[in-house]
Amino acid sequence: MGQFAVIGLGRFGSAASLELMRLGHSVIGVDINAKIVNQMADQLTLAAIADATDEHALKDLNITTCDAALVAIGESLEASILCVLLLKNMNVKEIWAKATSKPHHTILSRIGVSRIIHPEEEMGMRVAQSLNYPMVNQYMSIGQSLYIVEIKITEKCQSISIEELLREAKDSIDPLLVRRKKDIFKLIKLNFVLEAGDSLVLAGSLSALKTIAPRLV
Ligand code: ATP
Repeated sequence: MGQFAVIGLGRFGSAASLELMRLGHSVIGVDINAKIVNQMADQLTLAAIADATDEHALKDLNITTCDAALVAIGESLEASILCVLLLKNMNVKEIWAKATSKPHHTILSRIGVSRIIHPEEEMGMRVAQSLNYPMVNQYMSIGQSLYIVEIKITEKCQSISIEELLREAKDSIDPLLVRRKKDIFKLIKLNFVLEAGDSLVLAGSLSALKTIAPRLV
């Protein structure tokens, strides 16, 4: 179980903190707005009304012991940056922060934030990818243009083997597993025969994965 601090409980911060709780972690939620904190109080490990730019208030919350802190204040550039600097001074190991503009991103990266998130842009890209490839349930970038994708097998691919599906790109795509209802098949071979409704997880370069896309719909 990890221990996280989420600073700023707006739509982004509250969604992140509730999901961390659902995943079994401990979450300290902080917001300057008493009404928001009271609404979240029952759902987080600890919810505190505090100004994240107030060094003493942050120190009192024991955030130093957290595995990571997520600064989810977007509108006030000043509050976001000051809060990150205070967390750094308190030796918080891992700081992630939301950015709402390019200058905001530049400053956050210069002061050493581990991961900068642009919620609207990142979600917009995900939605466009889903519209472009509706058969792709999930995807994750693992760097160097490599992706892990989860593909829903449709009637069109019923009873074909993985080898056949990956014909054009089988040397550059690795099949990782197949989920069929409650069963998970790991270390699958190329002669594994697919059924409609299967979820197939593959790893490969974006260009190789694109070559098989037309065969899936
Ligand atoms: P979202 O899109 O996540 O709803 P928003 O852009 O509408 O956020 P923000 O200004 O990013 O609003 O604020 C997010 C949350 O951070 C709000 O709940 C706000 O009360 C809180 N917040 C703003 N400044 C501070 C601060 N100095 N200390 C603590 N919390 C703050």
